[in-house]
Amino acid sequence: MERVTLRLEDLPIRDDLRGLTPYGAPQAPLPIALNVNENTHPVPDEVAADIVDSVRVALGEVNRYPDREFTALREGFAAYLGHGLTRDQIWAANGSNEVLQHVLQAFAGPGRTALGFGPTYSMYPLLTRGTGGTWISGHRAEDYTLSAASVTEQIEAADPDVVFLCAPNNPTGTPLTLDVIEAAYAASRGIVVVDEAYQEFAPRDAGSAVSLLPGRGRLIVSRTMSKAFAFAGARVGYLAADPAVIDALRLVRLPYHLSVLTQAAASAALRHAPTMLAMVDDIVAQRDRISRETALLGYRPYASWTNFVLFGGVRNPAAVWQALYDQGVLIRDVGLPGHLRVSAGTERETSAFLAALASIDSHA
Ligand code: PMP
Repeated sequence: MERVTLRLEDLPIRDDLRGLTPYGAPQAPLPIALNVNENTHPVPDEVAADIVDSVRVALGEVNRYPDREFTALREGFAAYLGHGLTRDQIWAANGSNEVLQHVLQAFAGPGRTALGFGPTYSMYPLLTRGTGGTWISGHRAEDYTLSAASVTEQIEAADPDVVFLCAPNNPTGTPLTLDVIEAAYAASRGIVVVDEAYQEFAPRDAGSAVSLLPGRGRLIVSRTMSKAFAFAGARVGYLAADPAVIDALRLVRLPYHLSVLTQAAASAALRHAPTMLAMVDDIVAQRDRISRETALLGYRPYASWTNFVLFGGVRNPAAVWQALYDQGVLIRDVGLPGHLRVSAGTERETSAFLAALASIDSHA
């Protein structure tokens, strides 16, 4: 039978999806992949063994639908986050992307708006539009910092239904202090989402927005196991908020959205949180090394509280990206003129990146 291939624009697709491009970080099988801020350390053997045992037990129940309320996992996240949280304040889904999608489904959508401060995480506008809402692009200072005065002014002007604060920010690495979050909350009438995907890489004494939850019913703090927990492939994200917010999310989630295997694997990994997080110090050391050494090479790294570094002063980002690619090193051109972003790898991977970068004539 002849295969007829339509073009996307020939389909009766929703008008508001026409002309959009999907999330598209290149996935290339290069030996050194430092492009999507993964934790490049494998899960330690002893933790992997416990996860396999738990998944094996869960397989015994795979003929049944899983616990729709993922009760044990929510208890695990509440204990991990501390601050006296209980499971009725916790939600989880397949990656924090899905967590954020649930938030937008419940609180944004058609006729509503979401505001973020660019450059910021590229999925916020995609998720907002995908759920039928309108994205409003706010801005940052030239050095990518965000002040309390600036968020207040921008929120008051846009009056959005949902505000995204990426703390620390992707793709710039920029820290965000709690006073800015408090100001954003005070200025808004809608939901304020603080995306703490990279929080574990911030200095130990840096506060988490989780501490701001009491008395702030419209505040949501989202986290992920994809970064510090080296669990990106398992797809587990979560959030903490008022129990009423969790009730709102129940209205939009698919029933049984977290498989019994995912729940078992994530709960097992959480039981080993200290071992899983032992890698964080190594990653932070490599991040700081990238900042030091890229500066010595004449680039301009930005302050980072994450597991990656954005560096400026790149005359031709596309050419430098390609030259690194040709040497087997994959990093990210995030579309900021004169900038590139690299994730901190293991010591060996970071050395390979730095050696490859040093071999490239930055003035070419
Ligand atoms: N938030 C931020 C700021 C991110 O950088 C990412 C992943 N790159 C996510 C959320 C989503 O992560 P995941 O869906 O893997 O939890």
